[in-house]
Amino acid sequence: VPIGAVVKLCDSGQIQVLDDEGNEHWISPQNATNIKPMHPTSIHGVDDMIRLGDLNEAGILRNLLKRYIEHLIYTYTGSILVAVNPYQVLPIYTADQIRLYTNKKIGEMPPHIFAIADNCYFNMQRNNRDQCCIISGESGAGKTESTKLILQFLAAISGQHSWIEQQVLEANPILEAFGNAKTIRNDNSSRFGKYIDIHFNKRGAIEGAKIEQYLLEKSRVCRQARDERNYHIFYCMLKGMPSDQKKKLGLGKATDYSYLAIGKCTVCDGRDDMKEYSNIQSAMKVLMFSDTENWMISKLLASILHMGNLRYEARTYDNLDACEVVRSVDLTSAATLLEVNCKDLMNCLTSRTLITRGETVSTPLSIEQALDVRDAFVKGIYGRLFVWIVEKINAAIYKPPSHEPKALRRSIGLLDIFGFENFTINSFEQLCINFANENLQQFFVRHVFKLEQEQYNLEHINWQHIEFTDNQDALDMIAIKPMNIISLIDEESKFPKGTDTTMLNKLNSQHKLNTNYIPPKNNHETQFGLQHFAGVVYYETRGFLEKNRDTLHGDIIQLVHSSRNKFIKQIFQADVAMGAETRKRSPTLSSQFKRSLEQLMRTLSVCQPFFVRCIKPNENKKPMLFDRELCVRQLRYSGMMETIRIRRAGYPIRYTFVEFVDRYRVLMPGVKPAYKQEDLRGTCQRIVEVVLGRDDDWQMGKTKIFLKDHHDMLLEIERDKA
Ligand code: ATP
Ligand code: MG
Repeated sequence: VPIGAVVKLCDSGQIQVLDDEGNEHWISPQNATNIKPMHPTSIHGVDDMIRLGDLNEAGILRNLLKRYIEHLIYTYTGSILVAVNPYQVLPIYTADQIRLYTNKKIGEMPPHIFAIADNCYFNMQRNNRDQCCIISGESGAGKTESTKLILQFLAAISGQHSWIEQQVLEANPILEAFGNAKTIRNDNSSRFGKYIDIHFNKRGAIEGAKIEQYLLEKSRVCRQARDERNYHIFYCMLKGMPSDQKKKLGLGKATDYSYLAIGKCTVCDGRDDMKEYSNIQSAMKVLMFSDTENWMISKLLASILHMGNLRYEARTYDNLDACEVVRSVDLTSAATLLEVNCKDLMNCLTSRTLITRGETVSTPLSIEQALDVRDAFVKGIYGRLFVWIVEKINAAIYKPPSHEPKALRRSIGLLDIFGFENFTINSFEQLCINFANENLQQFFVRHVFKLEQEQYNLEHINWQHIEFTDNQDALDMIAIKPMNIISLIDEESKFPKGTDTTMLNKLNSQHKLNTNYIPPKNNHETQFGLQHFAGVVYYETRGFLEKNRDTLHGDIIQLVHSSRNKFIKQIFQADVAMGAETRKRSPTLSSQFKRSLEQLMRTLSVCQPFFVRCIKPNENKKPMLFDRELCVRQLRYSGMMETIRIRRAGYPIRYTFVEFVDRYRVLMPGVKPAYKQEDLRGTCQRIVEVVLGRDDDWQMGKTKIFLKDHHDMLLEIERDKA
């Protein structure tokens, strides 16, 4: 990537330059042709990239870098906000700042996340339409922080200081405690996706909200990579819970538990687990968790930790690999907390009941199988607990529309979903996450490139087509067309004899000719690759089907059924009610996920969208460090170059002639309302010509008028004056 620089010295045939990162270089005259003068806009930086003179990667990158150094982390591309994570607390989120950004037009103030929030709110009221804000970016780029800032702004301008506002805000600490963890990429990484829909009444005050969660990473409860942690709540509980309560649960410190210490990291710099615990407790009070419920949750969390410490010894019975759980305090504690018979728990964890031809036979499990059964149980508990918690929060904050007709209630939805992932080893979870990202990218592409250009053609606007990278083909292959990857995996998961190998074979035979599919190099390899919009990812297929089936064996369900612990029975209610046969046919993880994604896309498609693109400036979580390679990669795959090009050429603001005349006739004395007009188009044109000038870059379509962002601002300012 080219770099910006200043020529310092031209001497004795050599040229000395100082680049943006502060490095000096000597360049010989032969290479001087590599030096190109910059456009003045690139030298000083612009706050909207569509005004950038050097419309190339180097120019965009330099603009962001230059602003970043001056702590200007926000930059527009038209109305799309680019946010570079500062990794330090900046004094730009105060109550004063909120006031400054309230009721302003985009462009009137420097770029800011508050401006996006204000615009969402203003648009919702002006157009009487639901809005959504799609916040994307890699892990650690700042999606969750941005979401919280928007929420904070909306609560402030809703301005009621009401109980419901506080409840909506306090949902976050609970969700983060149970759904976020320290990873190598982010000390507070969200391990689930969420969509928060905030509801406003006709006066524009928050009257409730609803949270949708997606695909919590359950495997983290049992295993973490080096230098990563389990979910925050465990460490908070062990640090913050009063000792008498801990004693009742038989709890010690984090390093005592193998589920918490696998990553060899039980503390996280900059996080105070003890203080956090009291925050979580008070948030739970605000959201109406009763003391009993709270205690029940703690009991389950403690039982998980005890189960993780169980030790197994190998045995052989009738030449079969078998094992036993070593009797220990952890075993009795787990059984006591789960309120099940200790012997039943042991049996359940070391053998499996099979029913063949009406006969029940108990077969022993090998150590390896037994560990899998235990981990599956633990993941089952935590996953259901998380779902229950989200439902509990919704029960407090969601108010179904009752007396007010639906049309009078409007909403703003905030999407904070896991970013694209590409690790050394990628599994089923990454496939789901990247599938979600393909969907969102397609939504962006459709909205920014396809629908936009379609409109210009339909309206006969003078327009030069702009090329863009469309990920529809990849999406078709993954989840849309017949025999797509998700459906093949699903089919194999339901097939009793299906294995990861037979699944991979089917994927190969179906897709080997697709350019977006990379088959394994030979018969021994267990990986396949997919070309995603953000790069190639190789997926390790071992364990795929098991993860997708996501079933607990009947003995475990039976055990839960026998428990005297009402809470665990409640969170497993659906499973117990189902019965063995139905359970086998219950929807797989990928089909559930696919369905909830489709629902999400439908919701988004009826909203007016805003986009926030978060950029992670370095891999070290450090302030003032701008890794150009890392940044340019993110800009590239998010299609930022093309976005700038289309936003620059395009007309993002459009009104039907009726809307325009009715809104802006105040700018020209004597103009009658639209319904009294005979020549609407002509009237529209007369108003624009007077206010914006005949030669400015706006266009009249067949049914609508097309304007630039700055025109909208100008018209609105004039209208406020009139
Ligand atoms: P993940 O996909 O892993 O959940 P994310 O995109 O949600 O990542 P965040 O958790 O929002 O990332 O941000 C990571 C960290 O970066 C935050 O914990 C915070 O320290 C810092 N950060 C992000 N945005 C800001 C900001 N606007 N001001 C100050 N610090 C920030
Ligand atoms: Mg997050």
